[in-house]
Amino acid sequence: MTVIQCISPVDGSVYAERPAASFDDAKAAIARVRKAQKAWAKRPLEERVSLVLKGVARVNEMADDVVKELAWQMGRPVRYGGEFKGFNERSNYVASIAHDALAPVVVEKSDKFERYIGREPHGVVFVVAPWNYPYMTAINTVAPALMAGNTVIIKHASQTILVGERMVRAFNEAGVPEDVFMNIFLDHGTTSQLIADGQFDFINFTGSVEGGRSIERAAAGTFTGIGLELGGKDPGYVMEDADLDAAVDTLMDGATYNSGQCCCGIERIYVNETLYDAFVEKSVAWVSNYKLGNPLDPETSLGPMANKRFAKVVREQIAEAVAKGARALVDPKLFPADDGGAYLAPQILVDVDHSMSLMNEETFGPAVGIMKVRNDAEALELMNDCKYGLTASLWTQDVERARRIGDELETGTVFMNRADYLDPALCWTGVKETGRGGSLSVLGFHNLTRPKSYHLRKQF
Ligand code: NAP
Repeated sequence: MTVIQCISPVDGSVYAERPAASFDDAKAAIARVRKAQKAWAKRPLEERVSLVLKGVARVNEMADDVVKELAWQMGRPVRYGGEFKGFNERSNYVASIAHDALAPVVVEKSDKFERYIGREPHGVVFVVAPWNYPYMTAINTVAPALMAGNTVIIKHASQTILVGERMVRAFNEAGVPEDVFMNIFLDHGTTSQLIADGQFDFINFTGSVEGGRSIERAAAGTFTGIGLELGGKDPGYVMEDADLDAAVDTLMDGATYNSGQCCCGIERIYVNETLYDAFVEKSVAWVSNYKLGNPLDPETSLGPMANKRFAKVVREQIAEAVAKGARALVDPKLFPADDGGAYLAPQILVDVDHSMSLMNEETFGPAVGIMKVRNDAEALELMNDCKYGLTASLWTQDVERARRIGDELETGTVFMNRADYLDPALCWTGVKETGRGGSLSVLGFHNLTRPKSYHLRKQF
């Protein structure tokens, strides 16, 4: 029997462990979830929406435990109070649009014909969630999928093994039936086997590019629909007319919050030559204010990375960049808690270029490279010189200029004067190796349902 473990970044201890389900046990559980789906879908939409919101409210009631568990499982400092703001905002927004998003598209309603496109739930939706924002990333699919009449099985990351279990417990306590929303502990092999066996009607995978590839490979030939929300290397571009202080504040927060472990975190920054020196100086000062330490200490503003193997990647990228001529500007002496393991000081690097992994591979940590650019054309070329495309953050006073650059950017979301935010009214999507599909917004509901056409003749 495989046991799945969460090794805490706080002190390296085994914080939680759960036995992984066997293929046969998992199949039996999925059969129950499949059986429950039709009755769930027949309940009125208002009832499904209300039960999901009650589940969300129940998770909120567990805040004290949730916040502590997050610190132990993935290192987020308790001072930030979990991730309830986004969790609630996304749930409430999808609830507010569910009726319209799921309404049929009526083409004709006359004495002779009724013709319309309805929306059917897929059936059993499988959610594979990551540890970096374990509640927010999961709710993006769980809430609209359930509202749309699907039943849902969640498999959470080993690093945040307790999150799926807790979410499901909260939803069940709030009245969502056990066979409608179920948690399952699975290893990779069994996950692939179940997918290849056609056990799911839709899969939403949020995680690494390699993980996404193996899900896609497992699903090959089953025709199972898949949404893939994968890695990123999101750029910021600061133009000469930008509000410098606002740009420093938002881009540094975007680069380092959650120890840089945000899918849409800022990973590389291009600054017009006229603002470059001031931007770099202010950024170094901004980042130097962090207090790195134990996430359970309310004074700590920067926790450890979720696992020392993630910190190792960042350390290697920094070392490679420095070996190739980059300069690391943040004084490590300001961060005595950096232990060479999961506790990692933030870092800003200049004299970087795109030959360095720091500038071309996902870093997913609190380190960012800054480059000087002369004009929009140069910035655009550098921003697009990337295998990922999730978001890009443009800093200017000129909306038309931002729109023009945005039109040329290979990205899922164009931001002007903001960054590192998921707007639930817009479609969360990516290009290139960031994946495909889209969640939240009206389109998210469309992806969690299938169209069904009705062509009803009333008269001959
Ligand atoms: P990960 O290692 O790919 O894991 C994500 C989830 O997939 C976990 O539940 C993991 O389970 C599972 N998984 C990974 N490989 C699998 C396989 N071969 N078969 C079955 N399940 C598999 O990614 P992560 O390190 O947790 O998350 C960080 C990555 O997620 C970053 O690349 C980040 O950019 C990306 N991300 C993207 C978005 C977005 O919206 N685009 C949002 C958040 C995160 P185990 O934990 O048990 O391995």
